[in-house]
Amino acid sequence: MKCELISVGTEILLGDILNTDVQYLSREMAALGIDVMYTEVVGDNRDRLTETLRRALSRSDIVILSGGLGPTKDDLTKEVCCETMGVPLREDARALTWIEEYFRRRGTPMAEINRKQALVPAGGTVFYNSRGTAPGCAIEKDGKCVILLPGPPRELNPMFEEGVRPFLAEKYASGAIVSRSVRTFGIGESAMATRVSDLLDRANPTVAPYAKSGEALLRVTAKADTQQQAAQMCDDVVEEIRSRLGALVYGVDTPGLEHTAVELLKKSGKKLGLAESCTAGMIAKRITEVPGASEVFECGIVSYSNEVKMKLLGVSAQTLAEQGAVCADVARQMAKGALKVSGADIAVSVTGIAGPDPSEGGKPAGLSYLALTDGENTFVRRVTTGHAGPGSREYNRYVSSSNALDMVRLYLQGELNQIGNL
Ligand code: ATP
Ligand code: MG
Repeated sequence: MKCELISVGTEILLGDILNTDVQYLSREMAALGIDVMYTEVVGDNRDRLTETLRRALSRSDIVILSGGLGPTKDDLTKEVCCETMGVPLREDARALTWIEEYFRRRGTPMAEINRKQALVPAGGTVFYNSRGTAPGCAIEKDGKCVILLPGPPRELNPMFEEGVRPFLAEKYASGAIVSRSVRTFGIGESAMATRVSDLLDRANPTVAPYAKSGEALLRVTAKADTQQQAAQMCDDVVEEIRSRLGALVYGVDTPGLEHTAVELLKKSGKKLGLAESCTAGMIAKRITEVPGASEVFECGIVSYSNEVKMKLLGVSAQTLAEQGAVCADVARQMAKGALKVSGADIAVSVTGIAGPDPSEGGKPAGLSYLALTDGENTFVRRVTTGHAGPGSREYNRYVSSSNALDMVRLYLQGELNQIGNL
């Protein structure tokens, strides 16, 4: 069963919005064991949409279109699909009642153009929209299945879960695909690939390495008759990877290092304080993006200037004068100062050259020193990203913040001595 996804919307082509629908739908189709062979993006244009749909129908069994189901003139998806497939439209009473009620509940009159949204393909399956006005639908004809879904993710996702997934599972699913993403920190993509090279040659589950924002990850994908079997196959390989990479693995299907750090802080009942120079709040931002961060995060100090490093954190003027702001000793003193000011159980600091240019003293962009202290022991890490020039600043800052979070999670796992310290 070959599937193709078509995202309809000029704003995607203009780069105004990120095409998250295609990511969502691709994952969902994989989980159903339906192979997505092509994805396309097409603007709100009748001729190009028709041409794209024709091509999709010539090479795929299932075509899913998202977007362009709204009431306005540029919303063409339904008309074009029905025309192309030779299916007439009919007014759906339940959809019309729902749309009328939708407006009544909001206390706004329904515009006549919204009536158009109650039109559905004759003989098709209708997916009602619990979050908006446009119903979705499936048209099955001549051995092909075309599914139309609204563009906004907050409408598309629940519609898929409530209506489309059960529809596809019953009629088209064949086996299941399960994927796991093994996230590591502290090892490069090629070094990691070398350590698991035999696994990369496997056909099922497949194991593929990726590099992402200074991290290396491994995607494990298994195909089997049932979801359970595929999950088990994945988990066996994930275990094998864990045994090879040890503490370099910080999570499986975890959104990011900050989640692991916050989770471990919660588990240990410890609170964190920060002193950030080159990242200037990025670590604090990432920590506080995790729900429940208030339980574990005490404070972050953005100590950008040398004056504040001295006044607020007690960094010695002599160290700053002799070694500059970017050195192991300053990182150490910043962490100790942050621990004192915050009253937290552990504090982490970072000082570095964000880039794109080297420092006046000739220290390279991408060099940073981080320190973690619990009052008794202080650990220092030196990081060199090797990135300089255009675009390096954001990357270097991000990688520094990741290293700080990595130190927190390794400390809490009792592994900080082993990985990456001076
Ligand atoms: P509406 O009734 O809101 O007009 P629609 O089904 O006609 O819905 P579009 O007009 O194509 O959908 O898009 C409406 C909004 O939905 C977009 O502005 C965007 O915010 C979101 N959206 C559309 N397509 C996508 C997509 N592929 N990925 C993520 N968001 C999308
Ligand atoms: Mg629209």
